[in-house]
Amino acid sequence: MSEPYSLRALGLSAGQSKSAVVKIDLDPYVQTAIEYVPDPGVEGTLGITAMMEGISLDLKFRAEYHGPCARCLDPAVYRALVTSYELHDANTDDEEMRSDFVDDGLQTVDIDGWAKEAIGLEFPTRVLCRKDCLGLCPVCGENQNETGLHEHEQPLDSRWGALAALELDDAGEPDAGPEPATDSAT
Ligand SMILES: [Zn+2]
Ligand SMILES: [Zn+2]
Repeated sequence: MSEPYSLRALGLSAGQSKSAVVKIDLDPYVQTAIEYVPDPGVEGTLGITAMMEGISLDLKFRAEYHGPCARCLDPAVYRALVTSYELHDANTDDEEMRSDFVDDGLQTVDIDGWAKEAIGLEFPTRVLCRKDCLGLCPVCGENQNETGLHEHEQPLDSRWGALAALELDDAGEPDAGPEPATDSAT
C-alpha cells in the first residue's frame, strides 16, 4: 500500500494549484474470472487546485496489466491511461463535493483506493492480444491466429443423413454415381 497523500499545509489560496508525483499500488484486476496482474512501480501525477470552497483533485497515471487474451488465451496486455477527477470540501455535506477518497480527520487522499476505482471504470470487458484476434477454433481448440480461420467437416448425424437422402429422393435427382456396394446389397 502506498502512503496516502497529505493535504496538510497545502498553502494554496483559491485559484492556485500544485502537483506531485505519487506512488500507486494496484491490485490484480479480475475481469470475467480472469486475473490481470499490473506491473509494479506505478507512478501518477496528483494535481490539487484550491477553489473558493474546497479543492479539486486530479489523478493521472499509466498502468500495464498482463493476463491471457479473452479469446485465444495467449499473453495479452491492457495498457491503461487513466485520468480521474474528484472534488472535496471538508465544510459541506453536499455529496457532489465530498470525495470518497479524502479523509477529513487525517487530511489525506487515499491514492491507491482512488486509482483502483478509476481502473475499474476503464477496464475493458475483454482484454485481447490484438483487436482482430481470431480466437480458438471451437471444434479442435487450435489457435486460429496461427492456423488461420478454418472449418471442419462436421461428422453427419444419422438423422441428418436420412433427411438429406429423403430430400434427394423428393427432388427426383438422378444418382450421381454408382451406389456403394453395401447399400445395393440390402
Ligand atoms: Zn488472442
Ligand atoms: Zn479447428
